[in-house]
Amino acid sequence: MKTPLIIDAVAAVQTAILVNESQIESLDRAIGDGDHFINVRRGCEVMMALRDELAPLPPAAAFGKIGMKLLSTIGGASGPLISSFFTAMGKSLTGIEDPDRSQFATAFVAGVEAIKHRGKADVGEKTMLAVLIPVSRLLQKLADEGAPLPEVCEQLAAEATRNMLATRDMIATKGRASFLGERALGHIDPGSKTCEVAITAICDMLRSPR
Ligand code: ADP
Ligand code: MG
Repeated sequence: MKTPLIIDAVAAVQTAILVNESQIESLDRAIGDGDHFINVRRGCEVMMALRDELAPLPPAAAFGKIGMKLLSTIGGASGPLISSFFTAMGKSLTGIEDPDRSQFATAFVAGVEAIKHRGKADVGEKTMLAVLIPVSRLLQKLADEGAPLPEVCEQLAAEATRNMLATRDMIATKGRASFLGERALGHIDPGSKTCEVAITAICDMLRSPR
């Protein structure tokens, strides 16, 4: 996966986030403060604005630049968390010009670990990690097994959706929704929805013939 493909993935994520605006917005209005969609849309815009600058860079440098830029431009709790994901991906890919699937999986796992560390959170806490942790584990497993790309994409998208939906029955122990206690029950976590939308968009893009 070279940088131009990474940029295509960001473009696919941006389109999908915009398509899902009303759901993402209403979820953060229900159990947060309503700004999550705006934060994520801003992040996508910032990454797309960097596209010409990123294109000639190796993935490590591109992810590093994205991480730095997002830290200074996205607000909310999700800004520093998403930024730390990209920074850690960049570090993991240092010196690798065209990462193969298993190197990319290792980088994704490192990105998710960085969010865990920064957010002091884990699975089962009704945050974006409820989706990202199981998806990263499955990606690593499928990469280790050498599973074919269409199967990887199908399984990851299904895992993201299943775990996103499961946040509906969780009580939040991190983030703003944790102030609501049981009142957050019945609502999907907005950050988990965003991650599911992003993962599904990338999987669909990789599966479709180019
Ligand atoms: P804020 O909560 O500051 O308004 P956003 O609305 O942009 O920021 O993001 C909210 C999302 O961030 C939540 O839905 C949740 O998925 C995620 N989140 C919040 N706190 C944490 C945390 N400590 N670790 C991981 N993710 C978190
Ligand atoms: Mg919010």
